Amino acid sequence: MGCGTVIERIVVEVDGYGGMEDITKSVAEIVRKSGKKEGVAVVFAKGSTAAITTIEFEPGLRKDLPAVLKKHVPYEFDYEHHKTWGDDNGAAHILASIVGSSITVPFKEGKLLLGTWQQIVVINFDTRKRTREVWVAVL
Ligand code: ZN
Repeated sequence: MGCGTVIERIVVEVDGYGGMEDITKSVAEIVRKSGKKEGVAVVFAKGSTAAITTIEFEPGLRKDLPAVLKKHVPYEFDYEHHKTWGDDNGAAHILASIVGSSITVPFKEGKLLLGTWQQIVVINFDTRKRTREVWVAVL
């Protein structure tokens, strides 16, 4: 498996309204299994109400990030999206767009070049608990 793109899926249950889960170990394992020594891992959240970013994954920031984001993009607002589909998750779509659906992490000697206190997280902004699908492409 030295050459060619490897694409693998991570499936994880994540709470709504900005719940987040640490997927660093799963991404590292996909890179390790690819057999590649250096390159980049593209980590992409499927779905328009999920996001991918990095953060220090500790209980305080786990609450702080969604709390601060919700001050800027409140869930209670007269979103046109709610009129379009009868949905209640206009904020979730906007937050997912702002935070972004993917990140690119380089790796060297088979190891992700992340800081010690920098974890890869998937965030579910939807208004209910969701099983989120994250795709990792190792290039
Ligand atoms: Zn929607």
